[in-house]
Amino acid sequence: MNAPADPTILQPATALDGATTGPAARTRAERETLKLEKRLARQVGQAIADFNMIEEGDRVMVCLSGGKDSYGLLDILLKLQARAPVRFELVAVNLDQKQPGFPAEVLPGYLRQLGIEHHIETQDTYSIVKAKIPEGKTTCSLCSRLRRGILYSVARRLKCNKIALGHHRDDMLQTFFLNMFFGGKLKGMPPKLTSDNGEFIVIRPLAYVAESDLVAWAEHRQFPIIPCNLCGSQENLQRKQVGEMLRQWQRQHPGRIESMFTALQNVVPSHLMDGALHDFKHLQATGVADENGDKAFDEEVFAPPAGVPFASVTRVSA
Ligand code: SF4
Repeated sequence: MNAPADPTILQPATALDGATTGPAARTRAERETLKLEKRLARQVGQAIADFNMIEEGDRVMVCLSGGKDSYGLLDILLKLQARAPVRFELVAVNLDQKQPGFPAEVLPGYLRQLGIEHHIETQDTYSIVKAKIPEGKTTCSLCSRLRRGILYSVARRLKCNKIALGHHRDDMLQTFFLNMFFGGKLKGMPPKLTSDNGEFIVIRPLAYVAESDLVAWAEHRQFPIIPCNLCGSQENLQRKQVGEMLRQWQRQHPGRIESMFTALQNVVPSHLMDGALHDFKHLQATGVADENGDKAFDEEVFAPPAGVPFASVTRVSA
């Protein structure tokens, strides 16, 4: 396991592009790293501002699993906290679920070195799940239900009013497609929402961040990553497949992920079919021209995403 990096200092570039030798390669790698750091701070700051995620006086519980995403989340939030115009507190929390082989000293050591307020909650949900779920059946739903309940009780005890999770842009898109493909719903993963028990506000400050940037940042910062397969549970195959589908689309049609993600922020209920969001039944002609009204047979012309040739412009009937 790697030793934790000093969180306050930008580490010497570890060649995001793989280059490790020569002054030119080093300079290029350092420049790329600085760009990455700025992009992460800008995107997280933007998401916090756009959704009013953090306000004066908030006490935010940052959930740390030991994976690259939650390390990145805590790292960036600490940087933003140092220069934020509002004052808020961060409390890093890890739940040790007593999975076999869980390196219990890694996170406390890392957090002690950061010198920040933190709490490790130890609860053996692993044994409960193993005792209750028959061999071969998926354990994730009971495990995550137990984890959720425990994290709420920890947040209550620590007097936190917000819970920050490390889900990123690609998680959110994957969830959107999973809901559509397997749940028959147009429903994604919200950047900010009340917890299901109504007690806390759950926030996802990495909402605008690409997973590939978090991979690069974790590598650069040398976070002491804890493997996520310790419980022995099968990976969520459907999520894996949807993730691969999205990556393939992006390879074949650069810009598609960005476009789909933008679409999550531009919903037009009148052009979908949910009667609860748009009152189709009582619709009346208004006599007033409306740019967003039905254009009958006209086709909508879509500009290509940046960097894509005009030949790939798409037409879709309105
Ligand atoms: S992968 Fe393992 S630890 Fe994660 S939710 Fe599933 S059972 Fe729990």
